[in-house]
Amino acid sequence: MLYNLSQYVVLKKEDFNGFISDLVKEQKVVAPVAKGCGQFSFEEVKSGSEISIDYIPTILPPKKYFMPRDENIATYDLSNGEDMEPVVEYEKMLLFGVHTCDLAGIQCLNMVFSERPRDLNYLIRKNQITIIGYECNFYCDRFASCRLVHNHSPNGGYDLFFTDVGDRFMIHVNTNTGEELVAKSNLLRKAGEKDFEDLQRVREAKNREFAKNEIPIEHEKIPELFDRAYNSKVWEDLDKRCVACGNCTNVCPSCYCFNMIDEPNLDLKTGRRYRQWDSCQNESFAKVAGGESFRKERGARQRHRYYRKFKYPIAKFSRFFCTGCGRCSRTCMACINLKETLNSLIKEQGMENPEAGKV
Ligand code: SF4
Ligand code: SF4
Repeated sequence: MLYNLSQYVVLKKEDFNGFISDLVKEQKVVAPVAKGCGQFSFEEVKSGSEISIDYIPTILPPKKYFMPRDENIATYDLSNGEDMEPVVEYEKMLLFGVHTCDLAGIQCLNMVFSERPRDLNYLIRKNQITIIGYECNFYCDRFASCRLVHNHSPNGGYDLFFTDVGDRFMIHVNTNTGEELVAKSNLLRKAGEKDFEDLQRVREAKNREFAKNEIPIEHEKIPELFDRAYNSKVWEDLDKRCVACGNCTNVCPSCYCFNMIDEPNLDLKTGRRYRQWDSCQNESFAKVAGGESFRKERGARQRHRYYRKFKYPIAKFSRFFCTGCGRCSRTCMACINLKETLNSLIKEQGMENPEAGKV
């Protein structure tokens, strides 16, 4: 039986493991798994019992499946005069349990790689990945800022979307692929009025809870903040603290810069061309021919990172590229914290509004 878009179905919690087992029979399933020390990672699972459904953002976002850290782009063999052969590597899989911040990250990557010239390696791979989102009902920790950038609620980018409403999950069916998954399962039932009431109750409680962690600026005023803050003293402070390790960009769900590397084999006739994640925090990143660098200072590179999240993508894609996941702050060995940086900029520019975002 097929369902229309925007229709909801319900899964009892006691049937969750059975639902995952049915998915695993059909395809590779990847989901959040506990790694110890309060850390989580998206890994392949074979059963529902392996999944940590209440997790804080994983060490690496699901971008690792859409845009692998190393990816072969072409091979070459010069021995018989042949030139390069393009390579596209992909795998069919289902990603279960993707939070709204990471769904937003995938939406950002989709926009970037769909621009002309389109990135076929990315787009072919993306089309092989089914996504089941999962709603966070509780603020994950002090580093998150998803509500500020309006990514705390589901906003598309998934095939199915689960919300925990007590003894069951409400599931939003969003695409044909989602409808097919629903049609194959005999563990789901159509949602009724009581299910919708419970969904609304959960969302209202969540909104109140998330508002407590708000940064004191209106969402709409963030571009103006960055218009004013280019010469801020805050960048000088980050210049002294940042060690340019690049961790913040590696863990970011919307950072997509890469380097192209040619790797010849020992025969010097065959080899491969691959791309690898790069970081605007590396000194070499902004170097041009002749050895000049446009962003020699670490503070300038940090400023660039923030502007690539909060200003430049507004002009190009009409959205923030910070999804509010908090990973960059969680991982930074110099304790550079995105929310603290925003708070310092807001204070410095006199743009504080304690009422912003309150419910
Ligand atoms: S993780 Fe921290 S120290 Fe490393 S480059 Fe990013 S801001 Fe700098
Ligand atoms: S800038 Fe930081 S908080 Fe924003 S999306 Fe990237 S890792 Fe997450």
